[in-house]
Amino acid sequence: MNLPEVFPDRATSLRPPSVDRILAWPVLSRLSAIHGRSLVLDSVRAGLEQWREVDAPFDATAFTEGVEQRVLAMVAPSIRPVYNLTGTVLHTNLGRAPLPREAIEAMVAVAAGATNLEFDLDKGKRGDRDDHVEAWVCRHTGAEAATVVNNNAAAVLLTLNSLALRREVVVSRGELIEIGGAFRLPDIMARAGCKLREVGTTNRTHPGDFGEAVSSKTAALMKAYTSNYRIEGFTAEVEEPALADIAREYGLPLVVDLGSGSLIDMTALGLPREPTVRETLEKGADVVTFSGDKLLGGPQAGIIAGRADLIRRIRKNPLKRALRCDKQTLAALEAVLRLYSNPDSVAERVPALRLLTRPESAIHQTAGDIAGPLALWVGADWEVAVTPAKSQIGSGSLPLDLLASAAVRLTPLTGNKRQRGRQLKALSARLRRLPVPVVGRISEDALLLDCRCLEDSAPFIAQLDVAESEP
Ligand SMILES: *Cc1c(COP(=O)(O)O)cnc(C)c1O
Repeated sequence: MNLPEVFPDRATSLRPPSVDRILAWPVLSRLSAIHGRSLVLDSVRAGLEQWREVDAPFDATAFTEGVEQRVLAMVAPSIRPVYNLTGTVLHTNLGRAPLPREAIEAMVAVAAGATNLEFDLDKGKRGDRDDHVEAWVCRHTGAEAATVVNNNAAAVLLTLNSLALRREVVVSRGELIEIGGAFRLPDIMARAGCKLREVGTTNRTHPGDFGEAVSSKTAALMKAYTSNYRIEGFTAEVEEPALADIAREYGLPLVVDLGSGSLIDMTALGLPREPTVRETLEKGADVVTFSGDKLLGGPQAGIIAGRADLIRRIRKNPLKRALRCDKQTLAALEAVLRLYSNPDSVAERVPALRLLTRPESAIHQTAGDIAGPLALWVGADWEVAVTPAKSQIGSGSLPLDLLASAAVRLTPLTGNKRQRGRQLKALSARLRRLPVPVVGRISEDALLLDCRCLEDSAPFIAQLDVAESEP
């Protein structure tokens, strides 16, 4: 680099030149042209502040490098891909379901330009954004009608607000659920403007409890799927057919929050039983709500399916406008729903289902593939072994339903318990600093990298090679 050309000011001096002169240096003016003057200016000011704190001559080369690094850090994407080796397939914090190629292509196809999102191309007039997915939902669930919103929490909120504003909704005490994050049924109900009428006890609720609670103030009966925990022992819950009988008797709708809401029989794939949307409707639910990015394996969305007259009321609610999905989400959801029309290939083509049903032998093979390169990368202070592991479905599915899997287990060879704990944390942090961060889980004095969700080990190994060795 020809220094005088790059730094018209002297390369080192006792004091820095003015901010304007620094910004005019070719390296920095090029940086401004790419990322904007304001970011570079902030970075120059931060650099000058740092320089003032140390008692040293001003070094233009080091200063420029510092400015450049800070700018690049500021413009680096915050949201980016990671390797989910936690063993939890539908990990809410890691973005839940990975999308099928077909869904990604559909999103890209509509993202850049205008689409017929709310435009009926046959009639040449205004259409409804639900039109793109409603027929598919109805086909796969047997529902008369369906509408789609931002997520299942929004689906529950909108349904309750539409059907039970300022009135009572009867729910069993055993189903007043909290799902990770901030979804608590009693809170959602309050925000929806409904009054919660709890019946029964935590462990036992009988049909008669519902019947006795119904009054002129009642607007709906509700059942919520308590899929993320299980009450065992002396228990009783009221199933849909009995609830539906009571709802019919009083002319009330039965709303069921399914949560995961699978469209196919999970046991046919060797997975734990989950009620399907179709069977829930057949058992007498009038409206069912479920997520798009749980077992369905699609984009974040909340699907509301059921009786046409109730869906019409829900769709007419002004809140629907506040909770609706965008064109990319609808394009992705439509593509995923299309994949369900072939039950023979859906488990292969929807990644969430493919990962959940991945054979243990294949996972074991992947763990074996990455163990060697990992051993080189972590160094001689670690024991690296392939070990059987248990993965989970995640996202509100029963944590007890564990799937046989395989992992690479990294165990520190030296140090007392406290030091080993520190080494595990440091290694986790080092894995998170890789170009594509790797997220595992610490369990029993070891770091486990569950390989269920790692289908292609080549890029994983490649980034271990390029990554710099331990700082
Ligand atoms: C997951 C879940 C929700 C919340 O769904 P989101 O799509 O995360 O908003 C609500 N109810 C039940 C029963 C759930 O399992």
